[in-house]
Amino acid sequence: MNLEVFVLGTGGMMPLPGRGLTSVLVRREGDLFLFDCGEGTQIGLRRLNLRWKKITSIFISHTHADHVTGLPGILMLSSQVDRGEPLYIYGPPKIREFVEAMRRTLDMYINYEIVVREVEGATTVVQAEDYVIRTHPLVHTKPCLAYSIEENMRPGVFFPEKAIDCGVPRGPLWSRLQSGESVKLPDGREVQPSQVMGNERKGRKFCFATDTVAAPGLSEFARGADLFICEGMFSDDLADTAAEKKHLTAGQAARIARDGAVKQMGLIHYSPRYSERELKKLLGEAREIFPESFLTRDLQHIGLPFEE
Ligand SMILES: [Zn+2]
Ligand SMILES: [Zn+2]
Repeated sequence: MNLEVFVLGTGGMMPLPGRGLTSVLVRREGDLFLFDCGEGTQIGLRRLNLRWKKITSIFISHTHADHVTGLPGILMLSSQVDRGEPLYIYGPPKIREFVEAMRRTLDMYINYEIVVREVEGATTVVQAEDYVIRTHPLVHTKPCLAYSIEENMRPGVFFPEKAIDCGVPRGPLWSRLQSGESVKLPDGREVQPSQVMGNERKGRKFCFATDTVAAPGLSEFARGADLFICEGMFSDDLADTAAEKKHLTAGQAARIARDGAVKQMGLIHYSPRYSERELKKLLGEAREIFPESFLTRDLQHIGLPFEE
């Protein structure tokens, strides 16, 4: 099952030619999850040529303009396809007011249900059969949330030869063992899944955190993530500016990644003061602390394979 991340934009504050505002799309099976939606998010979707009009859910970190002003266009264009299911929008308080005011004042034609869920603090926002989406409170100039998608543990590898050795004939009994049930053979013996399968394997984890200082518990929240996308707005020499405006420097982001032992950390939400070339400085600072750091780039595609 694919878990793919598409970086739609990497900028903070304002979109630049060649650098859209911070927005990330995650595709898992038939679901599309959009994280933040600044002005111009549609351009990134369009340039990636994705079939995106059936976004499952939109997760908003906070209601600053550079994270939400792409919503009207996305909601409007989503009406071009038929959908039976509602579109869910999650975010901190004020997100409902923002969506309602925008629908009212823009007289938007929307042919599907929009369900807005306001979220505060650490909570589970989506509990699906095989994954969970959680929030963690960030520390910014207004309520702000980090999000994670975490898949359940997966059953271990099935060894057909072991099943045969145990006398289980190929067929429906194999599927029952694979789904974790013990089975009874005609001779009365019982075979446990553990006799024919390896250890349970980890699912995958994705984490997205932007617009914050080093928030308490954030490294724990990101722990072990296959991909941690984290704000690194400023270079470390602007740590005072970052603290004052409640943002992270690249080095601070790297410390969170290192402390949470994530597999890789992609910086995002770059200040418009840095040209693409100047971002190398931020990368250097992050890598000094956490070598598995990289700069996310607009239109980047990152696959997250299962760990075998
Ligand atoms: Zn921002
Ligand atoms: Zn902000």
